[in-house]
Parts: sequence; C-alpha cells; structure tokens
Amino acid sequence: MALTRTLGKTIIIICILTSAIGQIATGESTQAKDSKQETRCENSVITFDLSSLQTIYLYPESILANTDAFWKNDKAYWLTSLWMKNVGYDYPPYGWQQYIEQFKTIPAENRDSGSTLKLGRECVKLRDSLLGDVVAHICSFLPDSVTDLSTTVYLTALIVPNAFQMNYNVVLNANAIGSAAEAWNTTIHELFHVGYYRNECYRTEMLFHNEEKNDLTYSLQNEGIATYVAFSAPDAMYHEHKDYRMLKDGSKVKKAINKVNELIKMVDSESPDDFRKKMFKIGVEERALYICGAHIARTIDQRLGREALVKTVSAGPRTFIATYNEMVSEDQKVIELPLEEPLTDFQQMRKAAVDGDYVRLRKTLKTIRENKASQKPVGHPLEMTGHLLLERDSLDLAREVFEIYEELFPKHGNPYEGLAETYLIKGDSLKAIEYFRKLIEVVPGHAHAREELVKLGVSVSE
Ligand SMILES: [Zn+2]
Repeated sequence: MALTRTLGKTIIIICILTSAIGQIATGESTQAKDSKQETRCENSVITFDLSSLQTIYLYPESILANTDAFWKNDKAYWLTSLWMKNVGYDYPPYGWQQYIEQFKTIPAENRDSGSTLKLGRECVKLRDSLLGDVVAHICSFLPDSVTDLSTTVYLTALIVPNAFQMNYNVVLNANAIGSAAEAWNTTIHELFHVGYYRNECYRTEMLFHNEEKNDLTYSLQNEGIATYVAFSAPDAMYHEHKDYRMLKDGSKVKKAINKVNELIKMVDSESPDDFRKKMFKIGVEERALYICGAHIARTIDQRLGREALVKTVSAGPRTFIATYNEMVSEDQKVIELPLEEPLTDFQQMRKAAVDGDYVRLRKTLKTIRENKASQKPVGHPLEMTGHLLLERDSLDLAREVFEIYEELFPKHGNPYEGLAETYLIKGDSLKAIEYFRKLIEVVPGHAHAREELVKLGVSVSE
C-alpha cells in the first residue's frame, strides 16, 4: 500500500509528461497532413507507464510481502493474468517468485542501474517517434469508426508473452523486447490491434461455428495487417525486425503461405487442443500467420490501395483472403473456408443487428431465449451486438442483449461490464454501480470496474 503511494508520484509525472508531448506531436502532424484519413486519430494520447517495471526491479520486497495483491493491483500484471487465463496458462508462471527473490538480494543502491530498467526508460523516450505521423499511419489502416488510438503502454518484466493487447491496453515485456527499436516496432503492431478491436463490434462478417476457424482466420488478418503496418511505418531507422527480412524474401513468403494452407486444411480434422498447439508452433513460433498475413495486406495495399484493405478490416478475414485471392496466381492462393450453413440463432441475431433490422433482431432474441435449454450458448455475438447497439445509442435493446448474455453466462465478466456501461450512458449511476460491483465479484481485481467505481464516488477495498 505504502509502496503504491510512493510510486504513484512517479506514475503521475510520467503520464503528464507523455500526454503533453503527445498533444504537441499530434498537433504538428495535423498541420503537415490535410487528408481526413490521416487526421482522424489526431487527439490520441499514447502514455507509457513504467511503474510495474520499477516495482519489480526497485522494490521486490513489496511484491514478496503479498504476491496475490501484486498480481491483482499492478495493472500490467492484472492484464497479464487475464491474458494467461484466456490462453489457458496458470499464473504465476513457473519459477516467477524465485526471480523476484533474486532481485531482492541486489543491494538497493545498485538496483536502479539494471539493463532492463534502462531499456524501459529508453522506451519511454520513444514516445515522440510513436506519435504524430506514426499514429496517423496506423489509423489509415482502420475504418472510420476508429477515431481514437489512445492507450497506455505498460512496461513490465518476467511474464510469459513478449507483448499483447488487452482491453485496449498494451503490455510490453521488457525482458523479451531486447532493444528500443524492437519496442518501437512492437508498439506500432500492438496499437493496430487496439484499433482492430475498437472496430470489432461493427464487423459485418458472421463468425464460424467453430472457434478454431475463427481464431485462425482472425489471427491471419489481425497479426498480418499489424505486422505490415509496422513494416511500412514512416521511419526507416527501425526496420531491422526479423519478420521484415522474411517478408522481403519471396521464397520465405511462399513457405509461409504453404504453412497457413496446411493449418487451414487441418482445422476440421484435428482435435481443438492439438490444433491450437500446431497453430501456435507453425503460426506464431515459425511466424507463418504473421508473414503470410502481412504479405496479403501488402498485396492488397499495393495493388488495390489502402481503401480496399480497410474495407477488409470492416468486413472480416474471409473478405481479406478472398480479396487477395482474386489478384494472385493459383500457387499463391490461400484456401478459403466457407461459412457453415444454416446460420445458428446467435448468427441470425448478429446479422439482424449488423443489418440494422431491429424487428428481426427482437425476434431472434426471443428465439434465443426460447431455445435456451436446447442449444449451446455462444457469447461473442451477444457481446459484439450489445456493443454495436451501445455505439448506435439503442440503449434499451443493448440492455436486453446484455441481460440475455448475463442469463447464459452468469460467471463471465463481459455481460456485467456491458450492463454497467449501458446504465452509465443512460445516466443511472445506481444501476451502473450495482453492475460494476457484480463485475468485481465475478472478476476479482477488475481494474476498469474499480476505476469506474472510484469515479462514481464509491470506495473500493484493496
Ligand atoms: Zn500481434
């Protein structure tokens, strides 16, 4: 507790400094560029937060005094715990506590000079080059619905992933990043993901029935474009990333296409667990999804233009693959997976919402309620539909969708978050407080809920 207060001071200084620079830098870009596309995200503020890294390297004793509290109260670690739950890993990761204990043996006066902490400080200095033209560049790959790329980049250490986007925040693992140049590329990549998820509720393609098909095709598009966005960013200084060398080599690109086609062919025949292991090995470790996806993005961008590529972001990954396939020879094509027929009740509901047909939407909601006992519920279309309706200010319909979501998934946080947000927009603070509290019950330590409750004047116990 005392530590959090001590560090609070440092965090505030970092935030103020960063936002001030952010506004100046993006303002300059507005004068230089006059197209609507490039100024759309001009008020975005990218903030770097070093507090997690500082706690780990400077105050390891405070972590060891209560590791559960650290995982819950440190924002970077709390986001990491969500990421680990999503991918099915246990946390803390094996051997984590021993590392923290090793840091404790370093004399306090020597802790500040460690290389990881130094790298963290170098990354914070990168903020100038991550704003202005670079933010405009990232935004030019996103549909009009995305007007803000504001986010906090949390620098931390001793976690499993190298970097990830979660709840529109970015977490960078300074141990895995290795250099400021790598951090620059990774942050641009992750900022695209932030925008991609901000547009998610507007997407027009229906999801597959099969989760693995969704993850495979969405990863190809999302990771592919993110990689291409950083690869084509307007600053040649930092272009020595290993993925870019592969992307410049035709034979490596062809290999990546073949590997992605292999994955697509096995998605129906392998068990979900086996398939996910192979997707991680071939798609992530061997970079097939990143290189093949970036090549698709580059081909569409160079041959048809940016607008055509953005249209595929608005639609979804099947359009991304189909648009590319229309332009290339047989041996360069990526296998297209057709959407399964007939559409489920959840897909019908989602389609009615995307089409803006609210009479049909109400009918499909009724059908979902009636068939509740006899079909497997699917949460994602409810989540996306609720948020789409919130964006369109159809608050009563949004509430109805989130209520059905809550009935079907009472142990998930998303329905409560959706309901709390709906009531917040409606101006009903009492109901909003009730749902943010329920959200904390279901997802202990939920950072957004805690922040909102504090804003609403409710004291939150640690
Ligand atoms: Zn990524």
